[in-house]
Amino acid sequence: MALDQVPTECEITLKLSSQKIFNSLSKQKSSLEDGGYDLVKRGTASLRIVINQLRQRKTHCRLHLLEQGDDDTDWQEAKAMVNQRDEDGTSGGTNGVMCPSQFNVAGVKLSSLTQASAYKAIRHIKKAKVKPRQATRSNLDEIADRIQESGNMRPVDSEIWRGIYSPHISKECRSFIWMAIHNGYMVGSHWLRGSMSAELQERAICDHPDCLMIDSMDHILFRCEAIGQKVVWDSLKEIWNDANLTPREINWGSVFASPLLQHEGGTKISTDEKNLWTILSSEAVHLIWKLRCERVIRNEKAEFSKEEVAARWKACISARLNLDRRTAALTSLQLFPK
Ligand SMILES: [Zn+2]
Repeated sequence: MALDQVPTECEITLKLSSQKIFNSLSKQKSSLEDGGYDLVKRGTASLRIVINQLRQRKTHCRLHLLEQGDDDTDWQEAKAMVNQRDEDGTSGGTNGVMCPSQFNVAGVKLSSLTQASAYKAIRHIKKAKVKPRQATRSNLDEIADRIQESGNMRPVDSEIWRGIYSPHISKECRSFIWMAIHNGYMVGSHWLRGSMSAELQERAICDHPDCLMIDSMDHILFRCEAIGQKVVWDSLKEIWNDANLTPREINWGSVFASPLLQHEGGTKISTDEKNLWTILSSEAVHLIWKLRCERVIRNEKAEFSKEEVAARWKACISARLNLDRRTAALTSLQLFPK
């Protein structure tokens, strides 16, 4: 922030390369302030600080919008200086800039307030106050860790939540993924609450003879020895390898945040490949959950055969891919030719 370094008596010219910022500081300034800076839009915090700084100045300030391709030496020098400070970690951004309150326009002009914008702002304020539950926090961290481990940028929570709204994840799968990340299903330690009878508390255990341990969503989807999850994941890996696509790990990151995968093992993933993985992995994880519920609840723990699981998986992806076959993304991969 260089504005606060120049004495307020000096006339200055602000050279801007962004039309959007130019507009925000000139013709849109009043409407932005009247609307409380759109209440919740990102980036408005810095804009408020810049406007506050400009108001403090005792002389005129000119705004100059640079045209594309302008080779303005002052601007180039300023940009190089900012880049250097960023590299040195000394830029500081707008932190520590003094913003006296008399130069701020706080709140929203009532005449500019609509019911929709007020509702949006209230929701935003409430949301900011709610912290994720411990189990949700732990699941989000697990997803972010696995995504980062596979050579991608570590996602923030909002990116993970936005990811599950990918158009390549069906409504049913999205609903399951949302609930699973929130630890919302009655599995494992949920049955160990003090209010549960001893008989109900027994449901906390995965009583498959090769497991006999406290159940959890992680156990059900990726580790349980009951016939189901392994057959589905192995089949998915086989399809993937046969199509010569970049092999990948099956884990919370690659399954619950598949739309965020950009790289795998140092290789850039194409959009078609990413979309296909999102479809297949979301359908697979949802099928594993459905099979587990059928086995435990409807079939009274009687196991499926490997053939039954394989047939269900095949039927599941055939139905889903038939829906998507029309899209260029899938046909171009030639994974499932007609
Ligand atoms: Zn198990």
